This record gives sequence, structure tokens and C-alpha cells, in this order.
Amino acid sequence: MQLTFDAEVEAFRTEFTAFLDTHLPAEADTAERSHSTADVPVWARRWQRLLFDEGWLLPGNPPEFGGRNATLMQSYVHLEELSRRRIYHSFNPQGLGIIAASLLTFGTDEQKRRWAVPILRAEMTAALGMSEPGAGSDLASLSTRAELAGDGSQFVVNGQKVWTSGAHDADVLLTFVRTDPDAPKHKGISCLAIPTDTPGVTRRPFGSLTAPDDLDFNEVYFDDVRVPAQNLVGPLNEGWRVAGGSLGHERTLLWLSFSDRMDELLRDFRPLTDLDKDWYATLAMDAQALRLLGLRALARAARGEQDVPALSVLKLLGSEAVQKAAERALEAAGPDGLAHPATTAPYAYMHWEDFAGSWFQRYARTFAGTIAGGTSEIQRTIVAERVLGLPRG
Ligand SMILES: Cc1cc2nc3c(=O)[nH]c(=O)nc-3n(C[C@H](O)[C@H](O)[C@H](O)COP(=O)(O)OP(=O)(O)OC[C@H]3O[C@@H](n4cnc5c(N)ncnc54)[C@H](O)[C@@H]3O)c2cc1C
Repeated sequence: MQLTFDAEVEAFRTEFTAFLDTHLPAEADTAERSHSTADVPVWARRWQRLLFDEGWLLPGNPPEFGGRNATLMQSYVHLEELSRRRIYHSFNPQGLGIIAASLLTFGTDEQKRRWAVPILRAEMTAALGMSEPGAGSDLASLSTRAELAGDGSQFVVNGQKVWTSGAHDADVLLTFVRTDPDAPKHKGISCLAIPTDTPGVTRRPFGSLTAPDDLDFNEVYFDDVRVPAQNLVGPLNEGWRVAGGSLGHERTLLWLSFSDRMDELLRDFRPLTDLDKDWYATLAMDAQALRLLGLRALARAARGEQDVPALSVLKLLGSEAVQKAAERALEAAGPDGLAHPATTAPYAYMHWEDFAGSWFQRYARTFAGTIAGGTSEIQRTIVAERVLGLPRG
């Protein structure tokens, strides 16, 4: 087994680290904080724009979309170097990783020009309108309706989304709607790009346990919202394919962020008792297992053998191992875990709040990983049926 990268990939890494060493924003310029996943401070917009212009934003993209036609392995070391420095390439992760990526895959040239490129250049931010009060894990049950009006030039949208991260700060919503109520539920769904200033769109941000001061979640209501037919992304009634592609964009290298969290926990968790040491050893083994499995999946994808259901194993292992380790670190810290900062990791001035906090806060944040992008129960079902081939329950 080869666990090193070839010379071409290492040369790519060297070029990128030289860029980072020269161009990282100075600490004095980064005081402005981000308050939601679609709120991008001015300095961070400048940073993302620089990455776009230099082809370092999403290196796998062609130059006109912020990349340099890099290979998958090169894209991986790019993320490794970013996370080593605890830098985001964008403070609107769903805009960059899901929405712009979906528009580049499924959108028309006009949609790419109007939304994808401005999102990539940090001139616009975007939010993802999938989940509804009655459709989370079972996304295909969504009931927000879009009806073609009169001459077919407009959709009229009515319904509600929930958990829409950053919607109150976003310029555009990638929204999944039901366009054929009579078709089987996976078949009557379409995808619309809806600018948030369209009359009839109401966004109501609400707090969460982990960020009571920074509102990120939203309920979004659509009341007779008129959307031009040219905002349809992908073919009519084929939104399920777009949704699958959107989440696929999110999943490919998702395990890497869990791997980073595990490395941070290994640095910060201070085992004192024998039991703590046992937990610490479990964390160390889980971290190693995730990295090896992740690299194996990466090598397969680089050979063109990508196995999408197998990515569920990585998501499940990564998110749950992080959660278990944070819970145990909290227990080991005792009552102090509620109050005191729990980080000893290097100070990361660009977004230190993501890494700092009490052990309780760090534990509470891990629930995002086991719920968003498909809950652990849903991942287990995928692993059972599509990876292990067990009979359907
Ligand atoms: C941090 C975060 C950010 C998010 N951002 C967005 C966003 O930007 N846009 C968006 O659209 N959504 C977003 N979501 C919503 C997310 O996609 C949903 O929370 C998720 O899909 C689960 O849906 P639900 O909350 O409705 O739970 P439900 O689907 O109601 O599930 C409730 C419980 O039942 C279990 N369950 C459900 N069905 C099954 C089954 N078939 N078998 C076994 N168990 C089952 C689930 O595992 C869960 O434990 C976000 C969520 C989080 C936590």
C-alpha cells in the first residue's frame, strides 16, 4: 500500500503553501466576525476572491470557475493545507460546496453567470432549501408546491422550509419544490433558484443550543412567490437527480473535516484516569481508521471507481467518533467542562470561535455532524442495504 503522494502532487502542495505563506490575510485585518453561514465579512470576501482569481479556490474546477483543472489527489492536499492552517476558503460553505457546485453541474450558462460565478467570487451568498417540517430524512416527501402559471413563464411557489442555514443573510436560495403532485414522490420534484428579495419570501432566523447569539437556522415561508421559469435548475420534475448531485458534492471529502476534528480532540483531550486513557486510545484508533478508510476511498475515486454508498461508512464513523470523544472529554473535565475553554490547539485567528469554547459547547456542536447531510440512522440503513447487501427492513 502506498501512503505517500507522487512528486507531481507534492509539487502542487509546495506551490500552494508558498501562495498561502505570501497571501494569508494578516491578523489585524480579520477582526470582523461572521455571524451565520451566509454572512461573509469584507476581509473574507477579499480572501475568497483572491483564491478564485489565482485558481486556488476549488482547484479541481477550470480556471473560469476558480480552479486549475487539478486532479482529485491535488484537491485533497489543497484541503489538507487549508485545514492545517485552520483557514476556510469560504465562509459560505453551502454556497461554495453545494449550491455553486450544483449550478455548475446542472445549471444553464446564464444560471452559471448569474449565480454560480458570483457565489464563487464571494459577491453573493446562497442557502439550501431542502428540509421542511414534514420532510427531513424523507426528503422526497417535501410539499412546497410550485405551479406553472398562465403562459408557463413563471412558477408560483407556496410552502415552508426549515433549518435553512444562513437564509436570512443569503442572496439566493436553491429550493426544492413539488411540481407534479400526481407523480410518485421522487419523480415530481424540481429545483428552483429563488432570489431572497422576491416578494412573498419571508425568512425567520432562530437560535440553536450551540450558537444562541449567532442565528443561523431559518424557517423560510413562500407565499405566492413568483419565480421566472428560467430559474428552473435542471429539467422539470428531475429535481431528485439535482438533490442527489447536490448532496454528493457535499459528501465526497466530508470525512476530512471529521478527521480534522479528531486531530484537534487528540491534542486537547487531557486523559487523567485509567478510564480516560482507555477512551483516549479509542479516539486515537478511530482517528487512524477514519484516515486510512478515507484515503482508500480517495484512491478508489482517483481511479474512477467511486463508491457513493461507501461514503456513508466514513460519515457515520467520523461523526460518531467525534461525538463520543467530545462527550468523554467533557466527562473527564467534570464540572469545569461547562465553563472553561477547552482548547489548547494553536490559536486560529481567522475563525477561532469554531475551535474554542467549553467542552460542553464542543460536545453540543458535534450533533450537527450526526444530523446534517443525513442522520446516523439513515447512514446505517444505507450501509446495511447498499454496502453490506443485507435484506431490506
Ligand atoms: C447544523 C445543521 C444544518 C442544517 N442545514 C440545512 C440547510 O441548510 N438546508 C436544509 O434544507 N436542511 C438543513 N439541515 C436539516 C437536515 O438536513 C435535517 O435535520 C436532517 O435531514 C434530518 O431531518 P429532520 O431534522 O427533519 O429529522 P427527521 O427526519 O424527522 O428524523 C428524526 C429522527 O428520526 C430518525 N429517522 C427518520 N427516518 C428514519 C428511518 N427511515 N429509519 C430510521 N430512523 C429514522 C432520524 O434519524 C432522527 O433521529 C441542517 C441540519 C443541521 C443539524
